[in-house]
Amino acid sequence: MLIDANNKQAIKAIEIAIKIIENYPVFSTTFLVCSECKNNPAKGGMHCKDCLEEDLAEIVGYEKAKEFHENVKIISKRVVN
Ligand SMILES: [Zn+2]
Repeated sequence: MLIDANNKQAIKAIEIAIKIIENYPVFSTTFLVCSECKNNPAKGGMHCKDCLEEDLAEIVGYEKAKEFHENVKIISKRVVN
């Protein structure tokens, strides 16, 4: 499979998207302060969901990143309830 620059950006976007989902765990896990903003809790001391949204926005754009994050929030609420 050929991997060009666009694919690498897509892979990076997916990796960030997975990290956003991991910040909404179903079961309790270790949350430490965000290594980026030092403000919000983040899973295992990674970037928090807000910083990850910004990271994702740099690749897919602000609107798409916000839309994705909102969907994750909705899905995570469904799982908890
Ligand atoms: Zn942060």
